[in-house]
Amino acid sequence: MTQSKYNTSWSREELILALYLYCQIPFAKTKANNPEVIRLAQLLGRTPSSVARKLGNFGAFDPLLSQRGISGLTHFSKADREIWNKFYQRWDSLVAESQQILADKHAEEVLSNQDEAPVISRPLGTTEREATVLVRLGQAFFRRTVLSSYEYSCCVCEIDLPQLLVGSHILPWSANKEQRTDPQNGVCLCALHDRAFDRGLTSINQSFEIMVSSKVSASRKEFTKAALLSFCNQKIQMPRRFAPNPEYLDWHVKNVFQN
Ligand SMILES: [Zn+2]
Repeated sequence: MTQSKYNTSWSREELILALYLYCQIPFAKTKANNPEVIRLAQLLGRTPSSVARKLGNFGAFDPLLSQRGISGLTHFSKADREIWNKFYQRWDSLVAESQQILADKHAEEVLSNQDEAPVISRPLGTTEREATVLVRLGQAFFRRTVLSSYEYSCCVCEIDLPQLLVGSHILPWSANKEQRTDPQNGVCLCALHDRAFDRGLTSINQSFEIMVSSKVSASRKEFTKAALLSFCNQKIQMPRRFAPNPEYLDWHVKNVFQN
């Protein structure tokens, strides 16, 4: 809390926390009135609007956002670019370094009855079993980043109840340590479509079209047709950020999908 709100230059640690938050809230919610933005602003001794502007700056490096021509994000600095380049596709390090900075700043978790702890927090009592804790935090980062990218909606059926949504791994979590926290190894699916994807009853090809297994078409039930078969060959609802990696999708089609 030592930094003046009038000091406009951001330290490396502050930029890391801003990127950590940027990934985990929907782009449309990177606003000064978002409680997560306010929380980070309080921790850094900055104004919520300066934090919101910084999150907007990171949008300039996001390939999907720039493809969509989202403008007004041109005031980034060289330091912003360096932080983005350092952590883009090194998501495990982003989680680990952010957690270390939060520990140094004594950002302990606020106990609340919400389903999820705030992004800008550090679990209490984590001095032991740090590796286990980091895996769990990596999973939370992955889930929030994937769900935020898809604005909390299943990319197949568009159901938008967070309680039913999963950050589904394309390359299985257990066998791919490097890609565990990679948001481009994820798609946002509801519980039904997650299970179907995981068991190879559905897949997504490199053109982002939904594939449905012949095992599904064998069913005569109307609900099966409506819930699965009707989406065959449709394009998924594309995320605002972190599109699924086509190479990972191709692997899923070849190794998991039950044609
Ligand atoms: Zn769904």
